[in-house]
Amino acid sequence: MKLLSVNDNGLYCNVGDFYIDPWKPVKTALITHGHSDHMRWGMAHYICHHHTVPILKLRLGEENSVQGVEYGEEFEIKGVKISFHPAGHIIGSAQIKLSYQGEVWVFTGDYKLASDGVSQPYEQLRCDHFITESTFGLPVYQFPSAHDIYAAINRWWKKNAEEGYNTVLLGYALGKAQNMLAHADRTIGDIYLHGAVANVNAALNEVGYQFQGERITSDTDRSRIKEALIVAPPSASDTPWLRKLKPYRIGMCSGWMQLRGARRRRGVDMGFPLSDHCDWKQLNQAVLQTGAKKVYVTHGYENVFSRWVAEEYNLQSSIFKTLYNDEEEESA
Ligand SMILES: [Zn+2]
Ligand SMILES: [Zn+2]
Repeated sequence: MKLLSVNDNGLYCNVGDFYIDPWKPVKTALITHGHSDHMRWGMAHYICHHHTVPILKLRLGEENSVQGVEYGEEFEIKGVKISFHPAGHIIGSAQIKLSYQGEVWVFTGDYKLASDGVSQPYEQLRCDHFITESTFGLPVYQFPSAHDIYAAINRWWKKNAEEGYNTVLLGYALGKAQNMLAHADRTIGDIYLHGAVANVNAALNEVGYQFQGERITSDTDRSRIKEALIVAPPSASDTPWLRKLKPYRIGMCSGWMQLRGARRRRGVDMGFPLSDHCDWKQLNQAVLQTGAKKVYVTHGYENVFSRWVAEEYNLQSSIFKTLYNDEEEESA
């Protein structure tokens, strides 16, 4: 009995007649998290963790039909038991667990095992069938601890400030930006936000999150912005908006920054390998600890990781071809 399979619209549960993170408009969509490759426009009804609700309304519109659920809360659609569990990827991100006739399936969405200090830490689940992403599914990816990176960012900001520069940190507006803000050392200087980041923060504020930083608007007196930290999405690089904040040094936070040459290709002064995904070791650990007998790999280096799981651990493994494109991680 194959409870989940991929069709033209997305990851489909035929027994329950619903989808998970579909890429075409469908009736019922369970959504793992608010990144644009997983949460798309046009579903008649969305079900997501309740911290994702304001993000969905911000990005897809207030008028959408959205149902928020708690982590661990169990509900049923046509006899399929469903629950959302922390994925540790970004605020509100969830693994989705389905149980039917004694078989348990888990779809991770995007996830990481290492805690970022902001999103609810990953919960290790047990299941029979495990569908995992593989964004960084190559042995070369071994991320340093996030706390070491936050410390390195603060040291770099301090040095830039002492030398009379602003510090611009580029990272995705949902996820990276909140992690950077939560760990930025306010004693070094003032913190300013690009509008895209400020909008996400305002949405998250509705469900109780508070992040430091002042929104830069057209009225903001730019001459006041000195030795400051400015948090902006990668799309802000090389724009007139950014050039008005000179003099600055610019850093990029992304798992891809671990690769040699990535920083130069992005045209930034500094790269921080801060990732919201599992590295190689974490992927392996997650697969083994689920106890799953069948693994499905998607979203990344699926060929490499699927073959590895089959040969190294003697597990059944196959590939799910999906349209998740990892645009939030700014691929290499
Ligand atoms: Zn994501
Ligand atoms: Zn993704």
